[in-house]
Amino acid sequence: MAEATTRPGKGTYKCKNCGTEVTLDDQGDQLPPCPSCGNKYFDEV
Ligand SMILES: [Zn+2]
Repeated sequence: MAEATTRPGKGTYKCKNCGTEVTLDDQGDQLPPCPSCGNKYFDEV
């Protein structure tokens, strides 16, 4: 699991609440809250 505001690394993360996928393409990118529902918890895809 990954949490918003952390830097989990490159990859695609799927919102545990609504399933929206967020892709981080840089190792230093911060995972934002879900752009669709604001949820902070994601699963790695
Ligand atoms: Zn969501």
